[in-house]
Amino acid sequence: MTLKIEKRAWAEPYKMKMVELLKMTTKAQRNKALKEAGYNTFLLRSEDVYIDLLTDSGTNAMSDRQWAAFMTGDESYAGSKSYYNMERAIQTYYGYKYVIPTHQGRGAENILSQILIKKGDVIPGNMYFTTTRLHQELAGGKFEDIIIDEAHDALNEFPFKGNVDLNKLEKIVNKYGADKIPYVSIATNVNMAGGQPISMENLKELRKYTLQHGIRIIHDMTRVAENAYFIQQREKGYLLKTIKEIVHEICSLTDGATMSAKKDALVNIGGFLATNEWDVYEEARNLVVVYEGLHTYGGLAGRDMEAIAVGIKESLDDYHQKARIGQVEYLGKRMQEYGIPIVKPIGGHGIFVDAKAFLPHLSQDDFPAQTLAAEIYADSGVRTMERGIVSAGRNSKGENYYPKLELVRFTIPRRVYTQAHMDVVAESTAMVYDRRKKIKGMKMIYEPKYLRFFQARFEKIK
Ligand SMILES: *Cc1c(COP(=O)(O)O)cnc(C)c1O
Repeated sequence: MTLKIEKRAWAEPYKMKMVELLKMTTKAQRNKALKEAGYNTFLLRSEDVYIDLLTDSGTNAMSDRQWAAFMTGDESYAGSKSYYNMERAIQTYYGYKYVIPTHQGRGAENILSQILIKKGDVIPGNMYFTTTRLHQELAGGKFEDIIIDEAHDALNEFPFKGNVDLNKLEKIVNKYGADKIPYVSIATNVNMAGGQPISMENLKELRKYTLQHGIRIIHDMTRVAENAYFIQQREKGYLLKTIKEIVHEICSLTDGATMSAKKDALVNIGGFLATNEWDVYEEARNLVVVYEGLHTYGGLAGRDMEAIAVGIKESLDDYHQKARIGQVEYLGKRMQEYGIPIVKPIGGHGIFVDAKAFLPHLSQDDFPAQTLAAEIYADSGVRTMERGIVSAGRNSKGENYYPKLELVRFTIPRRVYTQAHMDVVAESTAMVYDRRKKIKGMKMIYEPKYLRFFQARFEKIK
């Protein structure tokens, strides 16, 4: 029961059995590596990184039980036992009826978008996600942001910044008509807002509204367990409920889901598409063979599916989530002690430093978040990533999106780093903060066509 563990520290409910040794680098080595990487932290070699907070995607440490399950993977081409184990875990813990495995989250987004979106459709969602929006657009749809305004304000302390503004949704429904809206896209623990949760109350209101208008809710459930933890801790009536119960309730309010198992589900690769609709499932089974593989493996090895089945269960443990989010909060509080501007409230999967407030002398066209990520790496070998104008990309007319939030994301892999590592991260960021006035921006010298943040290259402004 959550109440009983409430007053204790967030210490991890596991101990270490194996460690991975790291290469320690000098400042000169890091400056060289950074230059070669075009000042894009995505292009650094991980060998040159000390503490890697680029992403929490696929960087989780698996448990001894997951590794044991790995060895039981059934590598049959068709009808693998491991598929049925994964399917059972998804049906049991999330409650969706039909399951299609995919190599990762975007594989599921591709298939789902192709099935549900027609040219000219509109997909409202609680803030965009890079790959999700791109697949919606490639399928001929247009994304419309319906998250509450508070989510775009880094300093607003509203506890559920992932909530939908139903007035914004109603305007879109009135403008385009419900038949142009194949679904509302709802992310739990909204990544781009800084890992911020949606409340159960808001989701229930959205369910009511969408049922009245015959619109589906598709759930981007990549971080559903982290969202459930915040509901447990913050929402009236949920403190005595388990994360397992809350996750099940969230899923029951939606019609289908895409998931990147590389986050919540504690594995290094994998994902799936889930739906309660037979017709959608039928079409997905047809499409998955084109893009991923047979519908009982979808680009995954049997061992991956076994590890996901165990990982889903472990992700719903109350002690696990308390330690997971406790560690993130610990880093956030250390940063606040140094006066570093971060997104508040502290989110589920990382700390988001407000680069506009950190480097107020730079314009957004000088790429403040990209610059800051490079400076932090140079200082200590801590790798973070840009979530600002570079990530936001360009619209279909080729114009830059100018997102209100210009953030550097310090994403914490699950079960990987210690409290002392978090101290190093906070100290290093504070060192850069001390000399912030001397920091100049950058210019982009190479820009890829899609998802430019992954491979763009930069130069320092002299
Ligand atoms: C990571 C992520 C995805 C995409 O999943 P991949 O496994 O990286 O393809 C989609 N939505 C959200 C919210 C994510 O965090």
